[in-house]
Amino acid sequence: MEEKKADEKTGKKHLCLVCARPSDTVICHACEDRIRGEVIDKKREAEKGKS
Ligand SMILES: [Zn+2]
Repeated sequence: MEEKKADEKTGKKHLCLVCARPSDTVICHACEDRIRGEVIDKKREAEKGKS
């Protein structure tokens, strides 16, 4: 029962850690995609630097 009260207080949704918008997850899908893209870009750059 207390858990339900806590949910009402904070809201069911989390806030995205990156853009601070309400999100079902810790990081919203938009930011997740962006971060994923940046990681891939960095990997590509690293591979380019090696060869
Ligand atoms: Zn976000």
